[in-house]
Amino acid sequence: MSEERLKIVAGNWKMHKTYREGRELALDIVERLTTTQTMVILCPPFIHLKSISTIINDITHLELGAQNCHFAEQGAYTGEVSASMLRSVGCTWVILGHSERREYFGEDEALLAKKVDAALTHGLRPIFCCGEPLEVREAAQHIEWVQRQLEGALFHLEADEFARLVIAYEPIWAIGTGKTATPQQAQEMHAAIRQMVADKYGAQVAHKLSILYGGSVKPNNAKELFAQPDVDGGLIGGASLRAEDFVTIVKSF
Ligand code: PEP
Repeated sequence: MSEERLKIVAGNWKMHKTYREGRELALDIVERLTTTQTMVILCPPFIHLKSISTIINDITHLELGAQNCHFAEQGAYTGEVSASMLRSVGCTWVILGHSERREYFGEDEALLAKKVDAALTHGLRPIFCCGEPLEVREAAQHIEWVQRQLEGALFHLEADEFARLVIAYEPIWAIGTGKTATPQQAQEMHAAIRQMVADKYGAQVAHKLSILYGGSVKPNNAKELFAQPDVDGGLIGGASLRAEDFVTIVKSF
C-alpha cells in the first residue's frame, strides 16, 4: 500500500551558504541527481530562492521550499516574508514548526496554525515538523506530545486542506546531535501519527500522507530508516549541505 505515497527527501540548509556557495551546491546536486521517483525539495535560506528556482526550473521531482513564512499577507512586519512572496519566487513548499523556530523564536501551536493557513491559502504545501525533547521521550510521553502538536496546529483544517500537508517527525534529541532514532523508534511514531490522522480524517487521508523522519539522517543510516513501512522519506539538515551525501540519501529508497 505504501507505494501510493509520495516519497520525499527535503534538504533544510538552515542558515548556511553565501549566495555563491548556495548556487554551487544547488548546481552540484542537480548534476548528481539522475532521474528519480523521489520528490526532492531544496529548502535554502530566503536569499537563495530566486536563483535556485532558476537552476531547478523544469526539472521533474525537484522543487523549492522555504524554511519559514509569516502568517500575514503583507504589512509592517520588519524582517518577515509572506507566503505569497515565496510563491512569487517559485517556492511550492514551506517548512513550518521546525524545533529551532519553536525554541529560538517562540513559535507555538497557535502561531503555527496561522502560518499553516497562510501557506495553504497561497498554494504552498507545508512540511510540518513535530517531535519531542529528550525528557519527554524518557518519560514515555512522546506520542501524547506529538498528538498535542498536531491537534494544536493542524487539526482545525478540513480534510482536503490537510491532504496538502507533509509531516516531518523530528525528535529534538536527534537533530544535529549525531544521535538518530532507531528505525523502530521512527516507525513506532510514524505509525502512531498515521493513526492519529486516520482517527481525525479517515483512513484514506492517513494512507496518502507522507511522513518524513528527521534527525541526523546520513548516507549510512538512511536506507534502514526509509525501509520502515511508515517512513516515507527524510528531512535532512547537516547532510543536505554536501551534494554527494544528500544525493546518496535521495537514492536510499
Ligand atoms: C533538521 O534540522 O531538520 C535536521 C534533521 O537536522 P540534522 O539532519 O542535521 O539532524
